[in-house]
Amino acid sequence: MTNPLHSSLKITRVAIYKMTIPLKSPFVISLGAITHAENIAIKIHTNQNIYGIGECSPFPTIHGETQETNFAVAQPLSRLLIGKNPLAIGDRLDELDRAIAFNPCIKSAFDMALYDLAAKHCQLPLYAFLGGSNEKVIHTDMTVGLGSAHEMATEALSFVQHGFRDIKVKLGGSTEEDVERISAIRTAIGDDIPLRIDANQAWTETIARATLKALAPFGIEHCEAPIPRWNAHRLASLKNDSPIPLMADEALFDHHDAQRLAHWHAVDYFNIKLTKSGGIRNALRIAAIAEGAGIYSQVGCFSETRLGISALAHFVLACSNIIHYDMDSPLMHAEDPVQGGIVYGEQGIVNVPDDIGIGADFTPDYLAQLEQETIQ
Ligand SMILES: [Mg+2]
Repeated sequence: MTNPLHSSLKITRVAIYKMTIPLKSPFVISLGAITHAENIAIKIHTNQNIYGIGECSPFPTIHGETQETNFAVAQPLSRLLIGKNPLAIGDRLDELDRAIAFNPCIKSAFDMALYDLAAKHCQLPLYAFLGGSNEKVIHTDMTVGLGSAHEMATEALSFVQHGFRDIKVKLGGSTEEDVERISAIRTAIGDDIPLRIDANQAWTETIARATLKALAPFGIEHCEAPIPRWNAHRLASLKNDSPIPLMADEALFDHHDAQRLAHWHAVDYFNIKLTKSGGIRNALRIAAIAEGAGIYSQVGCFSETRLGISALAHFVLACSNIIHYDMDSPLMHAEDPVQGGIVYGEQGIVNVPDDIGIGADFTPDYLAQLEQETIQ
């Protein structure tokens, strides 16, 4: 028998927005540089006084998706939702998956909006809707982009002086260059603060073996994406020889990847990102596989605003085996179009609101001036 409360709620209209947000300074990783976040917002309206809001941040060199492709793909996906029950999140997302393969980034914006809407419908903060509590202490790292050893040491020192207690460092050069970078950073910030590193797939397996060994004395917590994603089946062998724990990032998109990596004993940690997994539903599936396999996880981001990172924070509060937090993208933005949502405190602490849903929204004035399309 259908619950009348649920069946009476229908999706009437979906608005798709292009959001382009300048960064304070260019952010460089081994895959290239970005100067702006080029994101998409999805707003799902209903026949009642309730809507859901979601966001995604496509990184073309990692997702194979762009703001333009997301904007185009979102339109036929939105048509599939019209007239349907938004609370049947699984059914709605299955329909999106059947309509088009891949495209996890734009699908994650729909997923986020549906979860926001459902949590609001239940009058619960999203973390509570997901079965979590607001007791976990979340502290984000701050990421040093790729540059010269001197530039990177200067940036790392400024982050430490601003109170951050976890520093992530982008790498991806020769062994000599990357050791010089980490050595300069250690000299600048001392030995007390853990460093986590990320090669973004730039090393060959041979370089990875040499660099991980050479970096062992520098107090490295873990290394993300040491080798190309297509070579993920080599991670287990690399892990066995590495003095530094390895973390899967680009090799881990969805729960199917998680299952394969766990089966291979490929890595020590997973890096879960909503825009890689396709959203919260699949992120929960990854977290469950990780927990079953005894793998701890980090959450990460691309260039989401505080809205996307607020949704990520709610997910973190619902998963006990997530222990590292890379949630710094809004801190790199020159503008903040979000009202409500997470608040960054001292030492990178991420405070999560107890408002219903994600608890964050884009201001109406901000949305009104964006390029947009409405499907109804
Ligand atoms: Mg990474």
